[in-house]
Amino acid sequence: MKNVLVVGFGLAGICLCRELEKNSIPFECFDEGLKSTPSKVSSGLINPITGRRFQLAWNYLQLFQVFEPFYRDLEERCGTRFVTQIEIIHPFTSAEIQNNFAISALDPLHEDYLSVTYKVHKWPISEDFGIIKNGFRLDLRKLIDAYSKLLIDSNLLNIEKFDYKKVKIEDNILKYKNRDYSHIVFCEGTKITSNPFFNNIPMVPAKGEVLIIEVEGLDETMILKKDLYFMRIGPNIYWVGSNYQWDFEDSKPTASRKDEFYQRIIAVLPDFKVKVLDHWAAIRPTSHDRKPYIGRHKIHGNMMVINGLGTKGCSLSPFLAQEAARLILQNDYIVDRDINLERGVEFAKKRAQKT
Ligand SMILES: Cc1cc2nc3c(=O)[nH]c(=O)nc-3n(C[C@H](O)[C@H](O)[C@H](O)COP(=O)(O)OP(=O)(O)OC[C@H]3O[C@@H](n4cnc5c(N)ncnc54)[C@H](O)[C@@H]3O)c2cc1C
Repeated sequence: MKNVLVVGFGLAGICLCRELEKNSIPFECFDEGLKSTPSKVSSGLINPITGRRFQLAWNYLQLFQVFEPFYRDLEERCGTRFVTQIEIIHPFTSAEIQNNFAISALDPLHEDYLSVTYKVHKWPISEDFGIIKNGFRLDLRKLIDAYSKLLIDSNLLNIEKFDYKKVKIEDNILKYKNRDYSHIVFCEGTKITSNPFFNNIPMVPAKGEVLIIEVEGLDETMILKKDLYFMRIGPNIYWVGSNYQWDFEDSKPTASRKDEFYQRIIAVLPDFKVKVLDHWAAIRPTSHDRKPYIGRHKIHGNMMVINGLGTKGCSLSPFLAQEAARLILQNDYIVDRDINLERGVEFAKKRAQKT
């Protein structure tokens, strides 16, 4: 009989809980209920196109086949809509960007995703622009609120910190607080570094900060990517961000970054009255090679991890949840080397040998 304990109710844990429900595998989840996590701070964007050369994101078509029906099902389960289809306006701020965009738009692989056809919009930009089409945005706060209420009401989600010291392993059964579990899956984001069972995973965490602003008289649903992302999250209200900080003291928002972002916002919207409503920050769980990690503990094979979602958690999580369910259901299941935890552990070993 399977009975799974999920640690962490961020995007990775949420998708795993739903995948377990769909497979009728009993589970229970623990989350310490922090106010500011990457899953709560994220813009929730799924951008099919990536990089300076405007290429299709890694494994995008395969991931799309999984995440699109997965999130539609989760909307049904939660009784609320949190997914919207979006378009991103990309002003050509240099000849190189315009050239790269035009070349990529000619590739038949990109015809559903890139367009150089003019579209009416309200953004104050003077440059020509291209449009990234058929992306998605997940309102993650709405999802977390709705799904956590359902699971709390069914006593499946406990808002409390998981205590590693209380885990006991007897005859392959995992015991936690007088309950027996067949598996524990850790979906802890950057907190994995304090986990004594999986502290050998090479993480390269990247802090990101975000301003929530009100812009008087500007209501535009198309997303603008000019210097920062400007994404409407309510009438005249925008999520604006973000940045990548590899050196930081803690996960808190910093005053200097707030000033810097404000100046950058004013440079894009010089003729609008901009009011800062909020300032958020969180640390992305990024891996050494920017790909996710999923796998079993080397000795205790029924302890598992899903991590390294990095900057692409929204498109990756449903696929990783399906892979985790396969690992739980099939003892001999092996995940692809590209995303396998093993490659991270090997990398960490080699790095330690060199120093
Ligand atoms: C500014 C910013 C913008 C982003 N924008 C995007 C975007 O547009 N698109 C995209 O795809 N991704 C984006 N991301 C990345 C995305 O948010 C992450 O990849 C994803 O949210 C990671 O989810 P997670 O579940 O792995 O980790 P987390 O969100 O960190 O969730 C882990 C959870 O585990 C809990 N936890 C940890 N340890 C314990 C314990 N011992 N006991 C109990 N609970 C515990 C934590 O409290 C937390 O709730 C962004 C991130 C940031 C910071």
